[in-house]
Amino acid sequence: HVKDHNKNGYAIYNEQMNKKALRRVVLETNLREAIANEDFFLEYQPIIELSTGSIVGMEVLVRWDHASLGTISPGEFIPLAEETGLIIPLGEWILREACLQTKRWQLQGLQSLRVSINVSVRQLQQQGRFVDSVKRILDEVELETKWIDFEITETALMKNEEEMIGVLNEIKSLGINISIDDFGTGYSSMYHLKSFSVDTLKIDCSFIGEMHTNPKSKAIVTSIIKLAQALNLKTIAEGVEVGDQLRLLSSEKANAIQGYYFSPPVSSKEFENYLLEGYMFQLNQKERV
Ligand code: C2E
Ligand code: MG
Ligand code: MG
Ligand code: MG
Repeated sequence: HVKDHNKNGYAIYNEQMNKKALRRVVLETNLREAIANEDFFLEYQPIIELSTGSIVGMEVLVRWDHASLGTISPGEFIPLAEETGLIIPLGEWILREACLQTKRWQLQGLQSLRVSINVSVRQLQQQGRFVDSVKRILDEVELETKWIDFEITETALMKNEEEMIGVLNEIKSLGINISIDDFGTGYSSMYHLKSFSVDTLKIDCSFIGEMHTNPKSKAIVTSIIKLAQALNLKTIAEGVEVGDQLRLLSSEKANAIQGYYFSPPVSSKEFENYLLEGYMFQLNQKERV
């Protein structure tokens, strides 16, 4: 019987492996076409300043609208796009679309918003070509660089340090802001703060999600905020889902929040409605602590 079991287990394992490998091949083939066809769309998640309760910016999150497979999440296709190098054309498309939308909202006379765009290490590693493409797109769109923020993970910074310092300095000299995404989850965070000139720390949702129930997580969040203050950096708390987290972040003086508590990522149309309605985040008496 043991033998049978093993045999079945092996068969199932094999089948799952095949399914996974097959989906990968299908996605990879489709990804090329999808880039050519521009089968992607962007969602926008508001970033709210705690001191005023107003929307000061948004993070751009890409989605793939697949004809038969439905909407595919970036968690699945971004790693594939990175491995295949397709992130280069895709990243350019995302940057252009995000900047065009931001510019459109500016021209409509809506409040000025900073647009946060996720940038992969693979994009940064093209040496001068990344900075050139950024410059070209911004010239084309006529969006001032002060309205742009690039989110980069710590792991990306670790890749080829010397090269990264060079690229990031160039980006900074254009006037673009730099955020460290998922802060606290990568290697030697302090080291990055010393070597790279960053503007904002985005505190990872794994700490925020537990900060009202786990004293260790709360201590980590508090320490990150203090560290940021000492270094003159801003903080954005990611993944704020409940009022208890908001109250703590408010009393600890985080600069801004982002999360389902206020809004999930939404379509450009829905986001525009937030702006048109002058949607403000009411921090009531209780929430101010
Ligand atoms: P990220 O940059 O850390 O983005 C934040 C993720 O948290 C998003 O997932 C967002 O939908 C999700 N999120 C927002 N609020 C909450 C909340 O309150 N609770 C929880 N549990 N989650 C929340 P999403 O959209 O699935 O994106 C996943 C990752 O894919 C991103 O993580 C980023 O690393 C990557 N990604 C997304 N869009 C792009 C892009 O345009 N370019 C690149 N290079 N990567 C992207
Ligand atoms: Mg991000
Ligand atoms: Mg993040
Ligand atoms: Mg992430």
